Amino acid sequence: MGGLRKLMTVLRAAPPTSGEMAARTQGKEIARLRLTFLVPLVAVISIIVIAYVASLYHREYEYLRLGTVRLNTSANELYRDGLNHSAVVLRTVMGVVAHDESLRAALARKDVPALLRRAGPILDDLKKDYNITHFYFSGPDRVNLLRVHNPPRHGDVINRVTTLLAERDGKLAHGVELGPYGTFTLRLVGPWYEERTRRLLGYVEFGMEIDSVLGYLRDFFGVETYVVIRKEFLKRETWEEGMRMLGHAATDWDRFPGVALGPHGARALPPVLVERFAHDGGSGEPLLDIRPGQAPYRAVFVPLRDISGREVGQMALLADVSQELETTRRRVYVGSAVVLVTGGLLGAFFFWLAGRVGRRIEHDEKELQRLATHDGLTGLYNHRTFYALLEDEIARAKRFNRPVSLLMLDIDHFKHVNDTHGHLAGDAILKSLSELLTRQARAIDRVCRYGGEEITAILPETENAAALNIAERLRATVEREQLDIGDGRIVSVTVSIGLASWPAQAGDAETLVAAADTAMYAAKQAGRNRVCRYEPGLRVPGD
Ligand code: GH3
Ligand code: MG
Ligand code: MG
Repeated sequence: MGGLRKLMTVLRAAPPTSGEMAARTQGKEIARLRLTFLVPLVAVISIIVIAYVASLYHREYEYLRLGTVRLNTSANELYRDGLNHSAVVLRTVMGVVAHDESLRAALARKDVPALLRRAGPILDDLKKDYNITHFYFSGPDRVNLLRVHNPPRHGDVINRVTTLLAERDGKLAHGVELGPYGTFTLRLVGPWYEERTRRLLGYVEFGMEIDSVLGYLRDFFGVETYVVIRKEFLKRETWEEGMRMLGHAATDWDRFPGVALGPHGARALPPVLVERFAHDGGSGEPLLDIRPGQAPYRAVFVPLRDISGREVGQMALLADVSQELETTRRRVYVGSAVVLVTGGLLGAFFFWLAGRVGRRIEHDEKELQRLATHDGLTGLYNHRTFYALLEDEIARAKRFNRPVSLLMLDIDHFKHVNDTHGHLAGDAILKSLSELLTRQARAIDRVCRYGGEEITAILPETENAAALNIAERLRATVEREQLDIGDGRIVSVTVSIGLASWPAQAGDAETLVAAADTAMYAAKQAGRNRVCRYEPGLRVPGD
């Protein structure tokens, strides 16, 4: 039962004061500020981070792609330059050898043993110094007299394009030709004439495998190379025979539909090339394969054209880009981490700042509230708040049909105290007295500074008789209290208290105040330092 009554008391108690309201809204300002600033900020930071990471990613991968484009251009240029350089070497060699009188005489006589005796050591040197591997002598009818590099084979008519061109134009002709075994040879054919009569003595031909050019590219770029030849330019049997001659027992002519893969040792063909050769043996588009789950490669293609301009095959240059990719990824990760951390720090900073500013605003708001509702000297509720509290209390009392009482206190002869001890002492007394009354009042009571040295106390849930006890207790406490006014001086004061209750003696806040005031004056008149209850017959002096 006691608990229930207590609960009812709390429910009927006074409305929350400004201080209580402020406490309840504590943290709301911080949350609001954080929401207002942080949501857009986080959105902006997120957009910046995403945009940065995306651009970083794009730029880094663009570098990888650029690397592929550069390799493609360089490889094609270097191959062309290599061929040109080799052609210059062949022409120079031809220029020197053409002055060899014994060779010219032997060719004129079609003296094969003499040719071989003289040309054999020359080819040995040329092979050693210039990679020249083929050296032919043919008659004016293009019938082969001697292959210095393969003496047993002769007597056939040479019908290669280079020889036909040399015959047609009567001057040096050179170009790349695909041999039946699938090898590419750079050939230079020159018609030799008798100096005096300009009679055609025959044709001399030098050749070098372009493997050396390809090998140069391989070493220069540090890549792996693969050569494929279009099947339409090959005969399967001859090609396979050539492969066997080169020591490759197992050939896979059938592996790709359009192209035959040249000797590639035991190396496995990476998927990127398998796909390319399987689907379009012809396209020379460079490739960058960085699909996850397999070794990353970049592949570029150098078309291999013969002297007639036909693209007879391709050389693929394959570079392992795992290192580059690793660096690229690391850069992207590090860059992303940096902006993420920066963004996070920025967010955290503003989170902190919003908290700080929010706390400051809340503090200021609370202070403003306090200044607006409380008296500066005593810290009691001020006159305006007193009326608001009283109105509220009476409204609540009406709702629950409960009593409410009001005390009006006035310090006795306070003017005299001021005159005796000074106004500062008077202030100190007012302050100490206010603290005392606040301490003595119950938690539900509201103590307010009504005016100068008049103090009111609203006593909710208290009917007249109970209020009289409270008033009497307060009066006695004040009378007993020794008030310190500084410099070791102690003063005692007394108070006169007027008491009125709602609804017994007044119908509203204003009449209740007037009734308490009247009672207070009655107490004064009755000799001060006493409590006086309002009664209908009481009159205010001067009325
Ligand atoms: P009594 O009430 O017993 O009739 O005599 P009193 O001298 O107290 O008379 P009254 O209440 O009319 O005088 C009020 C005096 O209180 C006037 C003024 O000097 C003093 N007083 C009012 N407010 C303050 C204040 O804030 N500080 C100080 N020091 N004095 C105040
Ligand atoms: Mg007064
Ligand atoms: Mg007074």
